[in-house]
Amino acid sequence: MTTTTKPRILTGDTPTGRLHLGHWVGSVERRVALQDEYDCYFLLANMHAFTTRFDKPQDIRQDTLEIVKDWLAAGIDPNRSTIVLQTEIPAIAELTWYFAMLLSFNDVMGNPTLVHELETKGLADKYSFGFPLYTVGQCADILAFRPELVPVGEDQEPHIEMCRKAARKFNQLYCDVSSRTEDADYVKAGGVFPIPKALLGRVKRLPGVGDGKQKMSKSLGNAIFLSDTPKDVQKKINKITTGRQSPTEPGDPTNILFQFVEAFILDEARVAELKDRYARGDNLGDGHVKQELAEAINALLEPMRTRRAEYEKSGGDDAIIDIIKAGVKKANATAEETLHLAKRAMKLDFGRRTLA
Ligand code: ATP
Ligand code: MG
Repeated sequence: MTTTTKPRILTGDTPTGRLHLGHWVGSVERRVALQDEYDCYFLLANMHAFTTRFDKPQDIRQDTLEIVKDWLAAGIDPNRSTIVLQTEIPAIAELTWYFAMLLSFNDVMGNPTLVHELETKGLADKYSFGFPLYTVGQCADILAFRPELVPVGEDQEPHIEMCRKAARKFNQLYCDVSSRTEDADYVKAGGVFPIPKALLGRVKRLPGVGDGKQKMSKSLGNAIFLSDTPKDVQKKINKITTGRQSPTEPGDPTNILFQFVEAFILDEARVAELKDRYARGDNLGDGHVKQELAEAINALLEPMRTRRAEYEKSGGDDAIIDIIKAGVKKANATAEETLHLAKRAMKLDFGRRTLA
């Protein structure tokens, strides 16, 4: 049984690479800030990493550990929040099956984020049967913890909508909740699952470095990682292309460079001044803006570098694995309780198991 009455949060990352600045502004920053107010579960979607990298188990394992290091460096505290390793939570895999029956083939294949990923990740006609299934799996990841909020970037909104649909349908079908019930009242009306809400980050979609057409993504080679060195940060920022020719050419203060400026230079007066001078072509070169931007990003990352170095000194990967194991124990307590409630509602209560 869970011991806290705080409302819950569930969100997570797929170990397809390390964490980048898009993760920070889209979700991780919020997670760090909400750790006291909420009972937080942060999921490592390592099973979902296999949907695109089934031939690279060693990479998935290493990236899983690296993401935990990124979380700790960013300020996630495993004593306050629960780290959930997807492959060690059997209730998630079981719930995936049940939700797969409640969503239609078109709900899944028409999911705009999935359609976009099939195009941009070069999966074309060679993706695995398991790839589209990750969207249903994500409903189970979330609902296994019955959270109120899911802090995510904008690209995840269609997934959260699918999750809400699955939760409403389950509650209506198996718990006799009326379809006229307000989303906020499903549990009060006898449902097993709350209808969770997406909580978008301060920046909903950070573009990648380069021309900025795609979002920053660890799979697309356009990311600045939380673990990058100060030099790497400057080098990558220098890759941002605006097409502007000279410091006296009036520039567009909403272009990709300025989306970064808005996201990472926190002094609002300075941002306003830079935008004004840029728009007027008042002798402000892209190179200067990039330098100031890289300084601001490095100031954000410096305390993370310090924390990472401390964790690396004290125990390395073994210490990280211990943190994961402790999280798995806490996470299974909650997820098993959810599974029990769901199976009871589905008339599948033929005996409640205990996990060793
Ligand atoms: P992949 O390319 O493997 O899909 P990703 O970089 O998109 O990786 P995910 O693990 O899919 O990262 O996303 C984790 C979380 O970070 C999600 O909530 C997602 O919305 C958010 N996120 C990822 N990229 C960005 C971005 N560029 N801007 C804002 N939020 C983002
Ligand atoms: Mg993604």
